[in-house]
Amino acid sequence: MQDLHRISIVVPLYNEEENVIELHDRISNTLDSIQLTGEIIYVNDGSIDGTWEKLEEISESDDRIVAISFSRNYGQTAAMQAGFEAAKGDVIITIDGDLQNDPSDIPLLLEKLSEGYDIVSGWRVNRQDSTVSRKIPSKIANWLIGLLTGVRLHDYGCSLKAYRAEVVKEIQLYGEMHRFIPALASIVGSKVAEIPVKHHARTRGVSKYGISRTPKVFLDLLLVRFLLRYRTRPLHILGGAGLITGGIGFFIALYLTFQKIFFGAQLAKRPLLIMAVMLILAGLQLLTTGILADLVMRTYFESQGRHPYWIREKIGTGIED
Ligand code: UDP
Ligand code: MG
Repeated sequence: MQDLHRISIVVPLYNEEENVIELHDRISNTLDSIQLTGEIIYVNDGSIDGTWEKLEEISESDDRIVAISFSRNYGQTAAMQAGFEAAKGDVIITIDGDLQNDPSDIPLLLEKLSEGYDIVSGWRVNRQDSTVSRKIPSKIANWLIGLLTGVRLHDYGCSLKAYRAEVVKEIQLYGEMHRFIPALASIVGSKVAEIPVKHHARTRGVSKYGISRTPKVFLDLLLVRFLLRYRTRPLHILGGAGLITGGIGFFIALYLTFQKIFFGAQLAKRPLLIMAVMLILAGLQLLTTGILADLVMRTYFESQGRHPYWIREKIGTGIED
């Protein structure tokens, strides 16, 4: 497989002062053991504890460290994206900064990636988190995400993942979308693998999330499903739904008009009339939203010189200019 020689490890950190030193020790030991060129990009996501001071301290003694500090807390996804942008490696690895993931799994991810995958995702087989608030919602979420995106993974939520840099740099992340990278990457035809990794209970610091994450994940999933299928043709789904609703409304209205003209029916007390009007209006709205979405999509691609496709390889140059 092609060159996977330079690794960038990206670590988001929010109030992890008690974990920074040991985390860095363990990551740098792993980097030493695999003897590849590497950098460790710590992104301090607006911590209000001593995380940044700890990062300054370790940066002095290790020039493989790149430390970035946000002006405030923007969230784990933004922190990861800042890390991706700073990364210079051919491979990018993401890992949590709370030592729940184990840096010693990194060589396994790299090995799998070198078999020709674009993304290798960790699967926390023995996940050490609360069953009711984390493991059960996560099981349902993983099943639903697999069903709706066609990319089936046991553990979307595991932060320990390895990516080919060019793939992950192609994907824009907003909100809390980082968990969906493997699904979004299927837009660019990525090959995804999953391998079991270790997982530990949090021993220091506190989790930044709770059950309130569940509805957000669900909404994000709807968006991902839409992006996967209709990213370049939103009018087909919205306009299609508009034609169906508007069409049903139109035929009901036609039927009522017929009854009125030929049988003198009284329409004022007919709920069907209201239904027909609502369906026609809803249909018009869906249709116009679809046209707007199509215009927005065009602006997105054309203003940035983006293409709706992604070329993996190209041979030859054709006519020389
Ligand atoms: N994190 C972050 N910004 C946030 C929340 C979390 O950078 O706003 C980091 C956090 O420091 C940790 C990782 O994201 O390194 C995962 O967070 P956490 O361990 O709280 O999540 P959990 O493991 O409980 O899902
Ligand atoms: Mg954690």
